[in-house]
Amino acid sequence: MHCAKAWLAGTWRGRPQCEGRKAGGPLQHRLSRDPGQRSGGRRRIADRVYGTVRWIIGAAILAVPLVSADFSGERALEYTRHAVSFGPRPAGSAALRNLRAYIESQLRLLHCQVTEDTFTARTPDGSVEMRNIVARFPGRSGQALVISGHYDTKKLTRFVGANDGGSSTGFLLELARVVAARKWNDDVYIVWLDGEEAFHEWSDTDSTYGSRHLAQRWSHDGTLARVRALINVDMIGDRDLDIEYETNSTPDLLNLVWKCAGDLGYGKYFTNARGPIEDDHLPFLRAGAQALDIIDLDYGPSNSWWHTPSDTMDKLNAHSFQVVGNVVMEALSRLD
Ligand SMILES: [Zn+2]
Repeated sequence: MHCAKAWLAGTWRGRPQCEGRKAGGPLQHRLSRDPGQRSGGRRRIADRVYGTVRWIIGAAILAVPLVSADFSGERALEYTRHAVSFGPRPAGSAALRNLRAYIESQLRLLHCQVTEDTFTARTPDGSVEMRNIVARFPGRSGQALVISGHYDTKKLTRFVGANDGGSSTGFLLELARVVAARKWNDDVYIVWLDGEEAFHEWSDTDSTYGSRHLAQRWSHDGTLARVRALINVDMIGDRDLDIEYETNSTPDLLNLVWKCAGDLGYGKYFTNARGPIEDDHLPFLRAGAQALDIIDLDYGPSNSWWHTPSDTMDKLNAHSFQVVGNVVMEALSRLD
């Protein structure tokens, strides 16, 4: 993403670090079973006298992790860690191709409709094949809600993008698991966007390749006319979470999301620091959709972890994913 110049010169760079939001706070939610515990528990159960009955119960529990009603920040963090383990993942790279295969393998477990929006982008480095991943959870109303985020990372030396590219990837994987567990009036689309990052300097033509392509495609095929709201997430895993009030976003959606955050007791994380930020929601806004960006573009001292090799997993925590996950699920429920 990119800050408009006024925003760069103004609010966030000079803003003091937010008090009371430092790392190490207690996690509000914990996974009741992690995969290691599950497999270990299964072996022990099989050894018992009433092993068969217990095994059947255990097998039923094993089926649960595919879908769950509650968003888990811990699990979103682990999905992010797995995404980051693929290494630097710029658009067109083998690492991004491998990550895409992983995302789609996870989606297949959820029995949603998965399509790829494939296109060739003209970049300053030449033609690059890109693919957005679109998961659709069908509803009944004929209308649609969309949650999006990018899964590529900026092409920089030793840059793994734990927060910038990784966090949105992991967040959306966990969100898909939770969305799959519910019935929806509207279609819910979860979209992993390719090519958000500029290859060189951020500009209208060198950035947001995936969202520009999908917005155009959805304009032509009629999907966008059915979209009631699009919420984009980016850089939401920072352990020192402070979401900016992004002023390009649709005011009604800003009001809704900030109201949800306040009602859930998360007001301190959804700040009043105002300013425009350019991100993947813009192509959809320009195409006429209602869209919002949830972003924390205040990452490390004086934003020094942004687009640097310091953007690593140790800067993130599960609580921040939990806060944003709960707010997004609440907003989705109120919109549906
Ligand atoms: Zn970035």
